[in-house]
Amino acid sequence: MNKFKALMLTTAVVISITSCDNNENPEISNNQNAQLSLGGHISHKDCGYIDNNWPSNAELSTTRIINASETNFLVGQNANIASLFNINTVPLGFAIGNGTLNAISYGAGYIIFGESLYNYALDNGGRISVAMVQAHEVAHQLQFRNNIPSRNESTARASELEADAFAGFYIGHADGYNADWTTAAPAYTFSASLGDNNVNSPGHHGTAAQRRSAFRLGWLLRDNAYPGARSFDSSFFRYYDQYVLAGALRGETEFTRPEGISEDVHEYIMSKMDELHKISTGEISEEEFLNL
Ligand SMILES: [Zn+2]
Repeated sequence: MNKFKALMLTTAVVISITSCDNNENPEISNNQNAQLSLGGHISHKDCGYIDNNWPSNAELSTTRIINASETNFLVGQNANIASLFNINTVPLGFAIGNGTLNAISYGAGYIIFGESLYNYALDNGGRISVAMVQAHEVAHQLQFRNNIPSRNESTARASELEADAFAGFYIGHADGYNADWTTAAPAYTFSASLGDNNVNSPGHHGTAAQRRSAFRLGWLLRDNAYPGARSFDSSFFRYYDQYVLAGALRGETEFTRPEGISEDVHEYIMSKMDELHKISTGEISEEEFLNL
């Protein structure tokens, strides 16, 4: 019986997915009819099983999470995030059922957002917390599609820090969520408190303090027009490597403005470098971070 299917994701990560094998309807498991619209990657309609990242009793919906109002909110945010980042809207599914405290960005090109996580976000910061999580997950799609982060580390740290920065940019940008810091920081804190289950990211995700500084840097870049994923990537790591982590110019005698960043925004970022460094070391505490 064709009980397990191996699915090769575009990013060379292999996960196994249990098919909806059904002895009474054997044709269902090996044709396209059982597949919903997440790019045809998941076959589950009859047994409800999603994949081994979700509880076995969770069911996939492509139409509804919580209620019509919340579904519209998340679908709208997903479209708005894609619009700001200049990509087609990322296919989005919903994992429904107990224990779905998760949101996962798949290398195959779609995102699944869990119902339990949605409810938890509403109870901890409200809808902006939902938007924050979704922006972070869409950022992973930008990485998959653009072969970024350009920085290669043996762990997931670089991609997680960069996803936090993309999310910060979205949350602060006028064409994004347009949130001031008082609103933005608690949503970030909520998101970062979750276990991150991006399938491409085993291991270390950066310290909490480093992740806060990456999000803050993305948020501070909010007045800059979106420069494109690769340009955002190179700007982010220039600032982050040269100043944020080091606390001073490192490896270069002169720091030139990254391409794609306006002079005004560059000056503004440079005026915040001491603060960003102190966030990254923890010298500015989590509580102080919330009140910046
Ligand atoms: Zn992540």
